[in-house]
Amino acid sequence: MPGVDFNRLRHEITMEHVLNLLGFEWTRRRGDQWYGYCPVHQSEPKHRTAFSVNVAKACYYCHQCRSCGDQFQLWAEANNTPLHPAAIDLCHRLGTEVPWVRRW
Ligand SMILES: [Zn+2]
Repeated sequence: MPGVDFNRLRHEITMEHVLNLLGFEWTRRRGDQWYGYCPVHQSEPKHRTAFSVNVAKACYYCHQCRSCGDQFQLWAEANNTPLHPAAIDLCHRLGTEVPWVRRW
């Protein structure tokens, strides 16, 4: 399977797109930094802010399960799939054309 151009895809699919698909709702918010329950692991009710995400920088981190990365890694981790098929799945769900890496 050809590669996916993640640099191009980053402009098409944002962290907010992925958070919306995951049904994420923040419990605390400070500007671009959002906090809430972790979409990757099952957060206990007391860990309301275990998961933190910067929507402007498109990076997340969970203090509980230590999962971290960008919006594509988040989708992959939350669905327990490898990064490459996860990115293609995201494109299909959001109606975005997959930016394949073309051979020279
Ligand atoms: Zn977590």
